[in-house]
Amino acid sequence: MPELPEVETIARGLASRVTGDVIESVWLGSKPEPLKSAASDIIATLESKRIAGIRRVGKHIVFDLENGGRASTPVSRTSRQKSPKAEMSVPPSTTAQWIVHLGMTGRMLVCQPDQEIEKHTHAVARLASGRELRFVDPRRFGRLSVAHGFQAQGSEPLEVKLDTFIELFRGRKTPIKSALLNQKLLRGVGNIYADESLFRAGIRPRRRAASLTRKVLTRLYAAIQEVLKEAIALGGSSVSDYVDADGEEGFFQLQHRVYGREGEPCLVCKTPIKRIVIGARSSHYCPKCQK
Ligand SMILES: [Zn+2]
Repeated sequence: MPELPEVETIARGLASRVTGDVIESVWLGSKPEPLKSAASDIIATLESKRIAGIRRVGKHIVFDLENGGRASTPVSRTSRQKSPKAEMSVPPSTTAQWIVHLGMTGRMLVCQPDQEIEKHTHAVARLASGRELRFVDPRRFGRLSVAHGFQAQGSEPLEVKLDTFIELFRGRKTPIKSALLNQKLLRGVGNIYADESLFRAGIRPRRRAASLTRKVLTRLYAAIQEVLKEAIALGGSSVSDYVDADGEEGFFQLQHRVYGREGEPCLVCKTPIKRIVIGARSSHYCPKCQK
């Protein structure tokens, strides 16, 4: 399941490929699950719009659309090195957003029109450049929607200031693990990166959020940023696998230190990693390194 770093990687990859292109027409499949907005609304919102930018918000990919008309030259692949900040910022003329959630198995591919349509393709946006954006999702947990003035709840883990981050957990009696997964607090931190961040910060997942001192939360803040940035850096080298139709499938993975390693020795102290269930999600931790 793609988490924040994967979605960030995919959003950047899509931005470098199709920003500036114009959506000429849209085809939607007959399966209802992937459509979170009405099919007619999606088509009306997307058609004849220029893709002004593509950014990640939490675990969503957001296409900023503006009334386009003519296509400008799509950003070339060689300009990918420019600052992601510039690519991700919202242009003032933006009128609508196309929001894509990849769910478990969703992919958004940039294809040439003669490339074979994969099974489980639920949407195709034909672009003025001649290419197509195709949404493929075998398990259909992914969602497509449109909005006018999209607002996400929660703070961005990579942008939130330390003081705001610390404030998020004040008075919260839930385990810190659950608080990290609460999308109303932080958006986009999923199970894997929550476990890995807690390990690096030396915090047991069951600790009550409110019981953590400022010093400990500062450590957690740094650990979350470190883990997410490492994973994004890894993804940069394999972005083609997710957005180019001819790429190999499969997500890159950060070397997990605790996640999925139940019973295996801790990489720091060799104590077997424990797995417990908190709020129906499994949590992995080292009973010696995490207090
Ligand atoms: Zn350990």
